[in-house]
Amino acid sequence: MKTYLVGGAVRDELMGLGDSDKDWVVVGATPEDLIFQGFTPVGKDFPVFLHPETSEEYALARTERKTARGYKGFVFHADPSITLEEDLVRRDLTINAIAKDEHGTLIDPFDGNSDIQNKIFRHVSPAFKEDPVRILRLARFAARFPEFTIATETQILLEQMCEEGEVDALVSERVWQEISKGLMAESPYRMFTVLLGCGAFQKLFKNIEPKYLDERHQEALKASIDRFKEVRASLAVRFAVINYIWPIAQTLRVPKECIEMADLLAKTYTTLCNSIQLKGEELLSFLQVCDALRRPDRFDELLLGARCLVLPTHDKEGSKVVLEKLDTSTHHIKHMQKVALSVDHKEIALQAIKQGLVAVQIGEAIDQARLKALEAAMKKL
Ligand code: ATP
Ligand code: MG
Repeated sequence: MKTYLVGGAVRDELMGLGDSDKDWVVVGATPEDLIFQGFTPVGKDFPVFLHPETSEEYALARTERKTARGYKGFVFHADPSITLEEDLVRRDLTINAIAKDEHGTLIDPFDGNSDIQNKIFRHVSPAFKEDPVRILRLARFAARFPEFTIATETQILLEQMCEEGEVDALVSERVWQEISKGLMAESPYRMFTVLLGCGAFQKLFKNIEPKYLDERHQEALKASIDRFKEVRASLAVRFAVINYIWPIAQTLRVPKECIEMADLLAKTYTTLCNSIQLKGEELLSFLQVCDALRRPDRFDELLLGARCLVLPTHDKEGSKVVLEKLDTSTHHIKHMQKVALSVDHKEIALQAIKQGLVAVQIGEAIDQARLKALEAAMKKL
């Protein structure tokens, strides 16, 4: 039995990046051997085990055979006679198909290390075609390592996979898993250019008409994404901003907080840019629509999202003007939020209860007090 470090940890080390999740492959063992040594079996579809002390993942070397469409249409075969090379050949990219033994020696049958040095994404074998998740993985690696280019033969294969409809077999949970990783990577825009470049985006997001994929929209998307880093945008904010330009939510299984942020941004962006004009009840009700009084942290996130958004209708000059207007507006609405929050709603509720008012009336009393405070603050401005 022999154990090798494989995948992301070897790749990242060769790239000079640290602290990656460690994936291990075990050659020459049976599941019983590992269980006997205290490993816990966890793999549903294939033999993966957790180390008794480190809890790192150890997978038995395996081969796979395609039996049906989609990423689940595989039959796996693991037995002690399967060699390391046989296991490596089923992996997606050459940079992910390098193993390292306990002496630090690299086993690199597909020249992954030279592809790392030359910054090239290259598929390991024609079997790449069998799993459409690999397209998404490549796109999110492109977002993570934006300086890498795609080998010509790999680009051709990606395009073939999209034309032949293998992409249609992807399930939305799996698509979101990879897209969300790409959204949090160094250069999320690159993920979209890779997906567009091979035709996968058009197949995945059929609801987005081609006219919305033109240069103007792509530029707006890029400009918006370029602002993510500066404001340290969360996943929900990133998703909401992108979804404003390209409604990708419809085809994805997205977590609730991301959908909520996207809906909120869509609903409030225009008014947020003009909040300086709001007065009295309009102002209070807008703060309530934004849920700014109950969820101030999320309101701050919403403002960050608005700050990132560059619309296709904005040219460079226009986008500067919008940003300045938004800054003034944000400053104003944040001030008004503070004013409304400074109203002691607990005390008002207590008094209202003493007077025998019912729930709706208590709410109204609080609103009235907030309105008064807002109007007083407006007068001072
Ligand atoms: P990360 O740094 O994001 O963990 P990773 O390359 O380690 O990247 P994992 O999902 O942890 O990715 O997978 C570990 C390894 O398993 C990969 O490096 C690759 O060799 C292989 N692998 C994972 N998913 C696939 C797939 N769909 N097709 C082929 N090989 C895959
Ligand atoms: Mg990994």
